[in-house]
Amino acid sequence: MRLLLIEDDAMIGEMVLQLLRDQHYAADWVRDGHMADEALRSEQYDLVLLDLGLPRRDGLEVLRALRARRNTVPVLVATARDAVGDRIAGLDAGADDYVVKPYDTDELLARIRALIRRSAGRGEPVFEHKGISLNPATREATVHGQAVSLSAREWAVLEPLLARPGVVLSRSQLEEKLFSWKDDISSNAVEVYIHGVRKKLGADLIQTVRGLGYLISKQ
Ligand code: CA
Repeated sequence: MRLLLIEDDAMIGEMVLQLLRDQHYAADWVRDGHMADEALRSEQYDLVLLDLGLPRRDGLEVLRALRARRNTVPVLVATARDAVGDRIAGLDAGADDYVVKPYDTDELLARIRALIRRSAGRGEPVFEHKGISLNPATREATVHGQAVSLSAREWAVLEPLLARPGVVLSRSQLEEKLFSWKDDISSNAVEVYIHGVRKKLGADLIQTVRGLGYLISKQ
């Protein structure tokens, strides 16, 4: 899963970025409204964490412009504890949820998981398909009830495929889930991690669709 953090405060930004990366999200961080616009126009994210008070372009404007482009990425707005007006304005401008600062990190992560889940059209908190179960909250994976240890990047390629059985994801779409700007992308990285998943979970779980990408079938 790839997240965009929009935050101008250096200390908060560094703290949240580390928190997200510790949870194995690929996360990019921008510090003003213009950079946020550019990132949102050029990259595809699974979730955006948006601070409203930003230099160069206000967070609400960034959000309104995003929705005006019919971009439906889930947006979690960050506001001060007493700023009820900001929360209302954020939700009315197209945010999906809000979280108050200073962050309770457990609550922040739970809200992120909930939004990602809902945007994938799922109500249940655990991915279950074909005997495989992934729990994003606990990072536990099982095959037919047996615990399996997946690396962060194996998890990152498996989760989006398991979240949408029957949907083909291209190599570059999976690369976006794996890497943030700071990481080097080796050209065969996706293949390497797919190979790792197949070794642990079974060779026929993830199918290669020649010329298109990868999928996990519906049945
Ligand atoms: Ca701010």
